[in-house]
Amino acid sequence: MSHTFSPEVIAQIQERARLGGGAVRGLGARRATPGFDDLLLLPAGLSGAPDLPRERCDTRTILGTRHAEEPVVLDIPITIAGMSFGALSSAAKEALGRAATMTGTSTTTGEGGMAPVERDSAKTLVYQCLPSRFGFDPDHLRAADAVEIVLGQGAVPGGGGMLLGQKVTTPVAFMRDLPEGVDQRTASRHPDWAGPEGLRVKIEELREVTAWRIPVYVKIGASRVAPDVRHAVEAGADVIVVDGMQGGTGAAADVFIEHTGIPTLAATRVAADTLRTLGMDGQVQLVVSGGIRSGADVAKALALGADAVSVGVAALIALGCNSPSDDTGADVSLGYRALGTVPGSCTACHTGGCPVGIATQDDMLADRLDPDFGAERVANFLRALTKEATMLARACGKSSVHQLGTDDLVALTVEAAAMARVPLAGTSWIPGTPIT
Ligand code: SF4
Repeated sequence: MSHTFSPEVIAQIQERARLGGGAVRGLGARRATPGFDDLLLLPAGLSGAPDLPRERCDTRTILGTRHAEEPVVLDIPITIAGMSFGALSSAAKEALGRAATMTGTSTTTGEGGMAPVERDSAKTLVYQCLPSRFGFDPDHLRAADAVEIVLGQGAVPGGGGMLLGQKVTTPVAFMRDLPEGVDQRTASRHPDWAGPEGLRVKIEELREVTAWRIPVYVKIGASRVAPDVRHAVEAGADVIVVDGMQGGTGAAADVFIEHTGIPTLAATRVAADTLRTLGMDGQVQLVVSGGIRSGADVAKALALGADAVSVGVAALIALGCNSPSDDTGADVSLGYRALGTVPGSCTACHTGGCPVGIATQDDMLADRLDPDFGAERVANFLRALTKEATMLARACGKSSVHQLGTDDLVALTVEAAAMARVPLAGTSWIPGTPIT
């Protein structure tokens, strides 16, 4: 077997030859990248003055303290990422909103406007401002608890969104003011400004519309992280959201998902260092996303300098994505087979045929997801992540998850040590620095 022309590559070439284009799919990068699994935390021993095991570990998180009159105050350092009504069913959006409320955190709208069901279900809702402006409404902006200007997403940094026609049903088309059943490919650049100075003007405009009440987040797809963070801070952002290449999407070209951007691990350290260099750590908060799956990921991201993390794909999996059965208990394996996949390997969000009622606008499929059950599962997942992160933070001798720092980390591989700028385990060597 050839490594260059493996069976998978041969199948891809033949598909391109047949279709004249590459595959489109949902979720995030499949390739292995250096990640948080390549880092380890260092629990306190004699040298770390550990807290008593049962002592409380604070998880309260405040985002947007720089300019906003009403910063976002969360009970946990884990938020739910932007995923649109359109990409997701109404039941899924409702479940995510309820789960956020149950756990004292925020959820985020996604492209295509604010669905009434998510405003009603989410106590704290972040409203996204995307290049397409689909469904963008100043009244919704004023009803939001924060606004997030999306410059890019980790799955497709520099690329636009995609919603295939089968998901552009009557309610989705109405919200986006677009024709039904037509593929939507959105711009990758905002239409009313081009560079950092334009972003500054846009941020001021959003502040005026919201009377300086709510924080303005700026979300970047992890690519040229240091200059992007610097420009966003100089433009006046309250919160920087950095989405690494493992981040998911509803529909994008596979070539984009697999071959653009940088891993979340590397992006987190670069963003945190850039804020420190600018003297803005503590004033501008950092949220990172892209492949966060566990409390260990949360703790390591915070140790690297994030103030909070955001979960997207993992929240969908908690909701039931890739589950072999739906909320009625029915086996839905045939639904996966119809999409050419099996539970555990599905990335077919773009098709609209989601067998578990999450990434669909088909009413019969959407009925397979019960928002009450779904909300409970996602809330349980967020609670479990919080519990794991506090367990690890306490072991490191911290009384708040926000006290974790790079001193609490070592790396298992040279690559991860270089990206995270922490020592290789058992040494004091950080690649790129002299050995001491
Ligand atoms: S199960 Fe549904 S949400 Fe999950 S990857 Fe498949 S289509 Fe997407």
